[in-house]
Amino acid sequence: MQKQIIISRTATDGIISYSKALHPNEAILILQGKTTREQVIIEGLVIPPFALSGPYYSGYSNYYLPFDNSYIGSAHSHPGGSNKPSLADLNRGFYGAVSIIIAHPYEDRTIAAYDRNGNKLEIKITNSS
Ligand SMILES: [Zn+2]
Repeated sequence: MQKQIIISRTATDGIISYSKALHPNEAILILQGKTTREQVIIEGLVIPPFALSGPYYSGYSNYYLPFDNSYIGSAHSHPGGSNKPSLADLNRGFYGAVSIIIAHPYEDRTIAAYDRNGNKLEIKITNSS
């Protein structure tokens, strides 16, 4: 069964504004929250440490993403305008339970979520928490 993605309004706005700030570069964020049998609940965002310490470049590696039980996936931006996983995304391997991709111009409607098999997941943005 495919999980439903529940993401708070605050976290959604964080992904949107961070992607806009780094445009035309690719932005990447770690998603913090919890997973249940039916859902992935995204409650917060973490900026990967390497993003702060070096020149930002497109085509990040999962090698740089830290591991923590509360880190349930990643979100990254596609400045090019398609929110489908790229070849690089598929080759990179999968981090956590969900991969969120937001495409330019970075709005609610350009956000998509995928599981590790590349299946598109339903996203629900909530105003709580
Ligand atoms: Zn990508």
